[in-house]
Amino acid sequence: MTPAPELQRSVDRPTATSEALFARGRAVTPGGVNSPVRAFNAVGGTPRFIASAAGPWLTDVDGNTYVDLICSWGPMLLGHQHPDVMAAIGAAVARGTSYGTPTEGEIALVEEIVARTPVERARLVSSGTEATMSAIRLARGFTGRDLVVKFAGCYHGHVDSLLAAAGSGLTTFAIPGTPGVPESSTALTLVLPYNDRAAVTAAFAEHGDRIACLITEAAPGNMGVVPPAPGFNAFLAETCRAHGALFISDEVMTGFRVSKAGQWGTDGAVEGWVPDLMTFGKVMGGGLPAAAFGGRADVMGHLAPDGPVYQAGTLSGNPVATAAGLATLRAATDEVYAHLGSVADTLRAGVAEAFTAAGLPHVIQSTGSMFSVFLTDEPVTDYAGAQRTDGAAYGAFFHAMLDRGVHLPPSAYEAWFVSAAHDDRAVQTILDALPESARAAAAAAGGEGR
Ligand code: PLP
Repeated sequence: MTPAPELQRSVDRPTATSEALFARGRAVTPGGVNSPVRAFNAVGGTPRFIASAAGPWLTDVDGNTYVDLICSWGPMLLGHQHPDVMAAIGAAVARGTSYGTPTEGEIALVEEIVARTPVERARLVSSGTEATMSAIRLARGFTGRDLVVKFAGCYHGHVDSLLAAAGSGLTTFAIPGTPGVPESSTALTLVLPYNDRAAVTAAFAEHGDRIACLITEAAPGNMGVVPPAPGFNAFLAETCRAHGALFISDEVMTGFRVSKAGQWGTDGAVEGWVPDLMTFGKVMGGGLPAAAFGGRADVMGHLAPDGPVYQAGTLSGNPVATAAGLATLRAATDEVYAHLGSVADTLRAGVAEAFTAAGLPHVIQSTGSMFSVFLTDEPVTDYAGAQRTDGAAYGAFFHAMLDRGVHLPPSAYEAWFVSAAHDDRAVQTILDALPESARAAAAAAGGEGR
């Protein structure tokens, strides 16, 4: 189904180069980008301005074609321009773009989420950040408590109370993770090391009756992929239950990607536990802005207009976004997940072989088809471990891959995403690029990272 790369250049080929557009962008928007990681600060160089994308391929304004391993940071599960998704978007646009009144498509999308996951009710929003922010407000409103527990290295969007860094002790309160977040926002957040049961037990022993919720990435992908130790999510769910706190599983990244039912499909569904609340985004929007939070019917019943906790959105449940999301989920069949799994297996094996041959220590970690590579010789179980990855080596690796037609995430701390459209040709392009790129990484190892 994947069109040949030479067919993918936009018809009206842009005349500006990435270099020129980056300069133009920096004159009017901070860093020349609308989300920081896109600026290439972690790897250096000029971000590629994309003119068009089809299947697994990106084509930049300079006329270069790359295999896409970013997949819009997760949403493009089916690849770019999947025919069903494009048709659904086209049909929705033909009916108008936004009404601010209910539509059948919104209900159908929530029904699809309810059918795939343990949530009983869900509310649509426009971004993952809105989903986690709203889930936390609801947890506080439901429990009548204020404290929130999160893990270092887990990212839940740019919510003030969650842009928090660990304080000086394990059970002490967090400090702002960025200027602009008031101390009063993070003073109600506890930040703990990931996969550390003792730290969770200690925090709940000291503050349990004040904790509204614990939020965790269902399987962290925002410090690179750091899977939960076996039983860790079940332990978190049980600890929350024992203390009357809500367990929020953030599946914005893993939802509908790791399996049909996301990360939960591989642990909670097997072990027999359910989160109180879950958050979703990325894949469920099919490349347009749609996200959701949902969970137990009694908890969701506290949300306006049924209950007292306020939450709203002008574009929530937007008809074009819900059409794209619904078409994506309906096309995400067992065969799609099987294909994603086999592509990821092939790539992991190729990456391991290339780094081994180059003599560079590495750890590859994954959940489902989501994986990442840490350039370190120690296992990575938490954020402190992830930070041991060699940034200089990754930067060299990234650029060598880019030069050979493969667009990796421009940061060592991000997951690599594959799509149903990654076919043999795309996979071979990646495999061919790996050996020399791994050697470039080895040559740069130990140097000054960014
Ligand atoms: N939660 C997780 C686990 C994420 O990975 C992200 C974004 O990467 C978010 C929340 C925030 O989503 P958004 O960028 O749509 O606001």
